[in-house]
Parts: sequence; structure tokens; C-alpha cells
Amino acid sequence: MRMASWQWGGRDHVGTISSDGREATPLAVADPSFGVLPLIRMLARGAPLPSPSSARLPVEVIALRAPLPRPMRSIFCVGRNYHAHAKELAGTVFRETMPQEDPWPIVFTKLPECVVGPNDAVRLPGANVSVQIDYESELAVVIGRGGRDIPRSRAMDHVFGYTVVNDVTARDVQMRHQQWDLGKSFDTFCPMGPWIVTADELDGRATRVRGWVNGALRQDGMTKDMIHDIPTLIETCSRGITLYPGDVIATGTPAGVGMGLKPPQWLQHGDVMRIEIDGIGAIENRFESGQ
Ligand code: MG
Repeated sequence: MRMASWQWGGRDHVGTISSDGREATPLAVADPSFGVLPLIRMLARGAPLPSPSSARLPVEVIALRAPLPRPMRSIFCVGRNYHAHAKELAGTVFRETMPQEDPWPIVFTKLPECVVGPNDAVRLPGANVSVQIDYESELAVVIGRGGRDIPRSRAMDHVFGYTVVNDVTARDVQMRHQQWDLGKSFDTFCPMGPWIVTADELDGRATRVRGWVNGALRQDGMTKDMIHDIPTLIETCSRGITLYPGDVIATGTPAGVGMGLKPPQWLQHGDVMRIEIDGIGAIENRFESGQ
């Protein structure tokens, strides 16, 4: 199932998208402003899917929002989690050990307020704040049933589904601070969507992640090439911390970020970044200066 959040007729709606991607069916949800979150909570406790609230609509007439436009908590993010990406950044600003030599993944968070929709503009913050804006195409895991101290052997039972995120990053700010959260959390720096594909339809451990800038393919990776796989990430993030339905774990980006190019290439006003994940779909966001 594809579960989405959208605006139509001046109101927020939540529902399902047909498997051909052509039709949206709104469902009866009390507060659709939080997107798919109420549905995830219902399904996580075993309740049935609510009934349709009105007739199906062609997808062309709705404006997709992020499936989780305001996550309840910060987004867990994993750093340097693909071998080729870790390699492309070795010898740049990262001079410590390679991550595959470390038994623990790098985990940081993005503030939940930086989430925007799958086709929304991303705002460049201005040269006084950052001049090194970069993209990161990523598969995001959405947690269904919550839990703490989830062992990797049962971790996949806690996956509700998957969506696409761009872990947009201000590299100069990221590197200025020991912790990465500031450089990762500027307003609009987490495009998400176009919907959540439920885990019964996609195995996130074996899919393809691609990213284009202005139509040129920059990133092309397979999730099976993660250094720390999805069960390990869930086990790690839930150690001593309860995960709740609707929590999001962005699983890291494949090689090909702007910082890894020689010379590095940063996003500029007017650039368009497209990210597509097989089995989910694509998001496409324009980077814009100013307000
Ligand atoms: Mg990232």
C-alpha cells in the first residue's frame, strides 16, 4: 500500500494512492494535519484501515505533502553508511578511521520542523549562513509498532514502511561543529515523499537509490551495500530509547554527493534535485535563494 498526505480543496487529507500511482483515495482520519501518522498508529495497534471519506481523485489534482509533514520527534539519521560514500569522503574532511572499522554506526538527528513535501522548494539560507549546500539521497525507514531494545532478529517486524528523503546538508556548518545536527536541520532541509510504501510491498534491504542534479545522475547505490543494515540500525536506535510509531530513520546516502566531487560542487539557486528509489517513487525539489 502507498500511504500519502495531500492538500485538496484547501484542506489536508490522508489516504492511499493506487498501485499505478494515478488515483488518491482519502480516508476518514480525525486530524489529517499530521499526515499518515494517525494511520500508522491505528495499524500498529491492530486496528483496521478507516473507510474512504470521499470519492477517489486523480493524483494530478492533489498537491502531495510529506507523508509525515511534522514527525513527532527528531529524525534519526545515519552518517557514512555506504562503503563507496565513506571512501569518497575519506581524505576530505573526514580523516579519522573509516566507518566500516567501527562496530557502531554514526547517528545524528534532524529537527522535525525541517520536513517539506516531495515537490516543495528548499530554501538556500544565504551566504552569511552557509555556502556549501549539498544533497544526500536516502531511503528512510518508518517505524510501525514501537519498542525498546529491539533485537536485530525482530527489527523488521517493527518497520511500517519506507519513504524517500533528501538529507540536505550545509557542509561548512556540519564540519564547524562536533555534532552534525545544526548543519542538517535548516528550515526546509528534509524533503520527504512522495508517500510511504508499506513493508509488505517493498524490502528496503534490497532496493536502488538514485539522485540527479538538473537531470545528471550523481548517485546510484543499492541498499544492500549499506555498512550497517536496517535491522542493525533499528537495534542501535532502540537501545535504551523507546521507538514510537511514525519515527523515521534515514539510512544514509550512497556515493556521489557534491562534497565528494573534485572539485566539490554545491547546490545553487535554480538547481533541481530528483531522488528516486525503486519500489517507492521520486521526489523532486528546486533549491531557491531568498525567502
Ligand atoms: Mg545523510
